Amino acid sequence: MKKKYDNTFIWFKIITIFPEMFRAITHYGVTNKAIKKNIINIDCINPRDFSKNKYKSIDDRPYGGGPGMLMSVEPLYLSIQHAKSMLKNAFIIYLSPQGKVFQQNHIEQLINKKKIIFICGRYEGIDQRIIDNYVNEEWSVGNYILTGGELAAMIMIDSISRLIPGVIKTKKSIEEETFSKNLLDYPNYTRPKIIRNKSVPEILLSGNHNKIRLWRLKQSLGKTWKNRPDLLKNKLTKEEKILLDEFKKEHKK
Ligand code: SAM
Repeated sequence: MKKKYDNTFIWFKIITIFPEMFRAITHYGVTNKAIKKNIINIDCINPRDFSKNKYKSIDDRPYGGGPGMLMSVEPLYLSIQHAKSMLKNAFIIYLSPQGKVFQQNHIEQLINKKKIIFICGRYEGIDQRIIDNYVNEEWSVGNYILTGGELAAMIMIDSISRLIPGVIKTKKSIEEETFSKNLLDYPNYTRPKIIRNKSVPEILLSGNHNKIRLWRLKQSLGKTWKNRPDLLKNKLTKEEKILLDEFKKEHKK
């Protein structure tokens, strides 16, 4: 008989002292649907459940002094062991501002891991011995400091999940969106045709597919040039160069 999770594509186990926060992805939207379809599986392990302290505390003072607390080692260690026993050969990620900065082009390699354990730090972080001995990679979601790893884990899980086959129905929308070709997405419009005297660009109503394609490509190139010139490092085709030059003439900086 087929087991309930036979078709699960990727398993996420999260070590967090705030498992309720993950309702944001387990109970809503695309990730909720992917869980219902058993394409992804998300569950949490709370270090507090492994605290032997009578107050169930999960923080401790840093050796050498200094401001703030660290997460206690023992409950975290036991949580990791528990997660590993449930998810054999899982890849272990510690969310950290000191990690490699997560980008769209890293998703593929993480999807291929199939089983991922995320460790969410709190306070001033976690003991270095946990990082050295149990963590495969440290990942950051950007050059800023969050109060905990939970939002970072959710960002990564959300963006990884939507690229798994079957999670998003229209494959084309994934292929054409921002970053897919190192370009930002083109502007989109929906009904009505005119709203408060502002109308949809005529070309989108023309029905001429080639003209629409060229217009969209020009807008993508132009917006990338204006907002994210760092993405334009790839060599442009002749067609793209002409379109970008046109855009620049039309929108003098
Ligand atoms: N003292 C740490 C430092 O300076 O690197 C920062 C600790 S931060 C207040 C608490 C936790 O939030 C970290 O242990 C980490 O898990 C998470 N965190 C903070 N910023 C992050 C980021 N940019 N990406 C991923 N996780 C982050």
